Amino acid sequence: MNVRDSEAVEALMLAAGYEKAAGEAEADIVIVNSCTVRDMAERKAVGKCGNLIAAKEGRGKTVAPNVKVVGLMGCAVKRMGADVFKSLPRLDFAVGPRRFGTIPRLVARCLAGETRILELSGDDEVPTGMDAHVGGSSFQSYVTVLLGCDNRCSYCIVPDVRGHEYSRPAREVVAEVRALAAHGVKEVCLLGQSVLRYGVRNAAWSEDDPPSPGGYTEAFPRLLEALNAVDGLERIRFTSAHPKGCTDELVRAYREFPKVCRHLHLPVQSGSDRVLKEMGRRYTRAEYLAAVAKLRAFDPEFAITTDVIVGYPGETEEDFEATRSLMDEAGFDNAFIFKYSPRPGTRSAALTDDVPTSEKERRDQVLLDDQERRGQVRNERLVGTVREVLAEGPSLRNSARWSGRDGGNRIVVFEPNEGVRTGTIVKVRITAARPQTLIGEIT
Ligand code: SAH
Ligand code: SF4
Repeated sequence: MNVRDSEAVEALMLAAGYEKAAGEAEADIVIVNSCTVRDMAERKAVGKCGNLIAAKEGRGKTVAPNVKVVGLMGCAVKRMGADVFKSLPRLDFAVGPRRFGTIPRLVARCLAGETRILELSGDDEVPTGMDAHVGGSSFQSYVTVLLGCDNRCSYCIVPDVRGHEYSRPAREVVAEVRALAAHGVKEVCLLGQSVLRYGVRNAAWSEDDPPSPGGYTEAFPRLLEALNAVDGLERIRFTSAHPKGCTDELVRAYREFPKVCRHLHLPVQSGSDRVLKEMGRRYTRAEYLAAVAKLRAFDPEFAITTDVIVGYPGETEEDFEATRSLMDEAGFDNAFIFKYSPRPGTRSAALTDDVPTSEKERRDQVLLDDQERRGQVRNERLVGTVREVLAEGPSLRNSARWSGRDGGNRIVVFEPNEGVRTGTIVKVRITAARPQTLIGEIT
């Protein structure tokens, strides 16, 4: 989501007449986009601003010798409010997540001599500039469809900083994706914290379309249908999902709309019913596994990835082992493991953060090792199959090879041939498997 917001700001700045610097060393203006989901992420962003301000004032190790304006955007600003200037007294501007559209104006004011400007966004604010894209930059693009979050998971600061859910009108989203496809974009990834809730809180299809009275509407599958019809577009992805949204209508959309990739990022957080309940996730282990089973019954190769938190307050060895066994049962294709970090103002911040850091690290490592083994086994099943791979370009590790991703978002490395171009789909026969990568040759 932040990558997308940064891209929108880049596009807005270019439209306002600024140019993109090759890097910090050349930049006059540096805007740091922050995340506050975990404590460490926020510290990094604030630390980075501190270094840039030091550079601006000619102190410290000068990484950005030309910098004249330093701004901070994103979730950390919303969390800190005016306190941002306690941490960073000489910051030029700070702007909350739903107000990044004002950045070109803020920069102009700072260049004219103003400093310490604070723009906080409202919880229901609809940002401007959400559809701004840097033209012709890539064959892949993120598209925000659902802002904010109305779930209240006990550990999570997102609803406080990103505000209430707001589904962008479908006609706006479709127009944006058409324009992207006309500029060569082949793959879009639709973004929302709980993206399957698209159209639940507010009508997305027309002004008189009533929002669903509770459950999940047809709004998201309908959006997939509309996007599947966009000329030139090859692939549609979306993230993140909640098991409650894995409805029959969603499965039907996977079946009927071939551009919709058979991959779902379905964060589970824990495999222990007790912990899930405390977290307020609104599903049980069995319900989660039923959603996985539904997707895999439709397509056994359906890729499912997840997020897990280790060391939630009170997480016992038994709870942790329940997470391990759930991960095996679900057979995740990939998993992001996070060590619990208390966030101010959340419900769980009132609980004692009682799992020691060393134990969180151990649990993290155990799950990573499990996933490494599981990734190897899951990928080996694909040896001999032919994958459709969207070619991205020379591989970072070995430029003689190319890499790309299959529909399941698996990284595939292959020998390029004469005809292969960035942003085209090639058929690759898999010859070998690694835990995180498939290796193959163009057929
Ligand atoms: N909306 C998504 C998650 C967004 S936050 C969802 O509900 O699926 C991304 C991930 O950060 C979460 O899935 C969770 O695993 C992790 N996370 C959120 N708050 C955290 C915290 N306080 N400590 C550690 N990890 C956290
Ligand atoms: Fe946070 Fe839960 Fe919303 Fe995800 S669904 S952003 S974890 S509150």
